[in-house]
Amino acid sequence: MLKITGLTKSFGSQQVLHGLTTSFPEQQTTVILGPSGSGKSTLLRSLNFLERPESGQYDFDGLQIDLSQPVSQATILKVRRQTEMVFQGYNLFPHLSVLKNVTEGPIYVRHQAKDSAQTTAKQLLAKVGLADKADSYPNQLSGGQAQRVAIARSLAMQLEYIFLDEPTSALDPELELGVLKVLLQIAQEKQSMIIVTHNLAFARQVADKIIFIEHGKILFDGSSQDFFATTNHRILAFISAMT
Ligand code: ATP
Ligand code: MG
Repeated sequence: MLKITGLTKSFGSQQVLHGLTTSFPEQQTTVILGPSGSGKSTLLRSLNFLERPESGQYDFDGLQIDLSQPVSQATILKVRRQTEMVFQGYNLFPHLSVLKNVTEGPIYVRHQAKDSAQTTAKQLLAKVGLADKADSYPNQLSGGQAQRVAIARSLAMQLEYIFLDEPTSALDPELELGVLKVLLQIAQEKQSMIIVTHNLAFARQVADKIIFIEHGKILFDGSSQDFFATTNHRILAFISAMT
């Protein structure tokens, strides 16, 4: 379980996250929704210490981190060994084949045997619909394919949590569908995920839990069913503006 309590984050004099308290259950998909500029990316980046919150508590797998104190690099590494941010496909290694992009982490970070890493990587590439691209290079892929390789690569690392910030925002609609289908399948297989998205139809399909943020505060924190049945006028306005 990943949990935050009273997490605050400012940029200069602008406070962006106002003491957020919530949890991200294991084996579930939590979707973060909210208007542009509400703090969704800042929250997700804070969960992986790409941003440094200035106060609050961070609990993850027995680690209890006081965010008002400096956080050691060793502690951050512990978190990052079990969590990963999937960036828009462009963080693939350009000089390595698709297969090697997927096996690199398991072999060099997880110390898996090369044969078994390759077998797993091929299975994962098949799962994301790219069995025939194992020997291609990233610059030979479409944006949607590159994004699916990035997802396969995270899966190969057997991370506890995968974080995705608008995983399809750079993609054309027809490429978007392929990526969303893969994410839905992974969610059904109980991979713990935290996803920021503007796609409400996708959120409704994939989310176990929804967190709605506005102006850096949590306005809703509960099940997907309850979110879409809400009578809160602010959330209703958001839903109707998005659909
Ligand atoms: P969007 O839906 O447009 O991606 P968001 O909800 O992800 O928006 P954030 O990117 O978290 O919003 O930004 C929240 C606020 O923090 C915004 O007002 C933004 O201008 C500010 N902000 C984000 N990153 C920085 C930064 N590195 N330096 C200064 N201000 C920042
Ligand atoms: Mg954002």
